[in-house]
Amino acid sequence: MQERPVRDYFRNIWLTVYTILVGMRISLKYCFAKTVTLQYPDVAPALMPRYRGFHFYEAEKCIACDLCAKACPIDCIYIEKTGPRKLDKATGIAGGGLMTRYAIDYSKCMFCALCIDPCPTECIHMGNLHDHSGYTRESMIVEFTELAKQGLQTPQPLWMQKEKMPAWAAERKQEWVDFKHSKDKLTGQDDARRDEMVKAIAD
Ligand code: SF4
Ligand code: SF4
Repeated sequence: MQERPVRDYFRNIWLTVYTILVGMRISLKYCFAKTVTLQYPDVAPALMPRYRGFHFYEAEKCIACDLCAKACPIDCIYIEKTGPRKLDKATGIAGGGLMTRYAIDYSKCMFCALCIDPCPTECIHMGNLHDHSGYTRESMIVEFTELAKQGLQTPQPLWMQKEKMPAWAAERKQEWVDFKHSKDKLTGQDDARRDEMVKAIAD
């Protein structure tokens, strides 16, 4: 009668030691594996070349045709204009009516990119911005026409508005300010592009 409790006692000790060893074996394996943790924000996040980040929008080329909004499966693109707009193929700039609003609600957007392909003037694109932090739901609605008035094509998250930021972030911000992602007839003519962006927007 006394043998079984003694045997169970030692068996429990063995099982405890064994399970610790099994657990430690897995931990030890990862101790020597290649590190995958990224020291963000000090180190830039590694984005794939076709990463679908926050959009960039070229107001001066937009003809307000609504095709992007119609293609959006969750209706989170809002477009308002004073009249129809037409693209001048020679200059690559749209004219006619003015854009009063082009906005995307990022509290709904699922970054599916379905709005990109139907655009006849290729003025809406998925960008490489991965973060748009804010303090309210309303701040997740990006008013691209308001950005265009400031000469911007894409939103600037809070960390991009700080004076001190990691070198990679400053570089990325400058890329956007310099329209490095806009490949069209205004490439390299930054001031002309800013003028056209403002001209496309109604106050
Ligand atoms: S990425 Fe998709 S969900 Fe977001 S605005 Fe475009 S179509 Fe709509
Ligand atoms: S972004 Fe393109 S598809 Fe959308 S309204 Fe402007 S021109 Fe049309």
